[in-house]
Amino acid sequence: MRFQEKSRLAVQLATLAGSERQQLKKRAELARDVILRDTRRAPSVDEMMLQLLDSARVAAEDAAETVARYTGQVIGLSRRHATVQCDGEELTAPLSSALAQQAKSAIALGDLVRLDGDPLQVKTVLPRRTRLSRPDPGSPHIERVLAANIDIVGLVTSLARPAMRPHLLERALLAIEHGGATPLIVATKVDLLTPEERVREIGRLDAYQAQGIRVIPCSSSTGEGLPALRAALAGCICVLVGHSGVGKSSLLNGLDATLALRTGELHHGSGQGRHTTTGSCLYRLDGDIRLIDTPGVRAFGVWKMTAEEIRAYFSEFVEWADGCAFGNCRHTHEPRCAVKGAVETGDISPARYAHYLRLLREDEDE
Ligand code: GDP
Ligand code: ZN
Repeated sequence: MRFQEKSRLAVQLATLAGSERQQLKKRAELARDVILRDTRRAPSVDEMMLQLLDSARVAAEDAAETVARYTGQVIGLSRRHATVQCDGEELTAPLSSALAQQAKSAIALGDLVRLDGDPLQVKTVLPRRTRLSRPDPGSPHIERVLAANIDIVGLVTSLARPAMRPHLLERALLAIEHGGATPLIVATKVDLLTPEERVREIGRLDAYQAQGIRVIPCSSSTGEGLPALRAALAGCICVLVGHSGVGKSSLLNGLDATLALRTGELHHGSGQGRHTTTGSCLYRLDGDIRLIDTPGVRAFGVWKMTAEEIRAYFSEFVEWADGCAFGNCRHTHEPRCAVKGAVETGDISPARYAHYLRLLREDEDE
């Protein structure tokens, strides 16, 4: 064994625990015995140990490389296929039959997935950090995930036409916070306001700022506020949601002119974004912003929520609701309501309960 190899072996052995070293030596001796059966010129035990160490390292590197190569983020999704951004390349592969058969929320844009098999299939969805979801309109206990692993949800609201309605914002904020992403209020069309109106309208958002939600007033016409928005989204995966007409497309245009061209088709297509197979819906914008934009995300649509849907967001009520005297208890005015009881004992946060009542009341006001 040459000196160089000897020292390489010494270095590697030094990183092993005593028992591991002994095990390695035993394996090397066994391997050497096997070779000796066929030939008289077998490597020394030291050489054998070095070979074993080297092949173990190569195998570990191969495994790591395979994981990196076949783990990635869903940037495009259709009913049966996903386009996955893996370690520098985009792969489009069919969903495993288990994933394809499951409800729509089994896989969403932004999900981190693992591809496996030959031919490759999207088999595993890794745990989600956050999600943007809404209750299924047909069955509110089922959650429909529109996008996964997003850092920021920009809630776009117009300060002018259409006029802002803070109680609608409140519902959207409930849904956003439920999914764990950070909400950001983007207040558009400031250019349409007089200085007095501007103070008044932005003032209506003070309550949100007081809760720690950032508000960025901006205008796609004058460009005001766009640098702040860009800075807030830099390095993040984000989505923009809001009523139609509040100025989302104009904002995207302002953030990255090429993006607007790419998303243009969204407005003219069938509106069935989840089923498009062409193109990606996770865009990379200038300034390291990654943005998920689909008709489904745009029509996030928690503006109209039924009482049942609102209730779905207050999941901590569920364990108490079984104890209510009435099966269809709304937990508002009914007698012997276990949820109200839990609020009185402090088991449910009174602030959360007040929030719930406020949302219900606004629902009735519509
Ligand atoms: P979306 O439906 O949310 O995508 O809204 P659009 O971006 O299509 O905007 C709706 C309308 O509002 C269009 O006529 C825009 O030109 C206008 N608009 C959007 N942003 C601004 C703005 O900041 N200032 C003014 N004055 N008009 C705007
Ligand atoms: Zn009740």
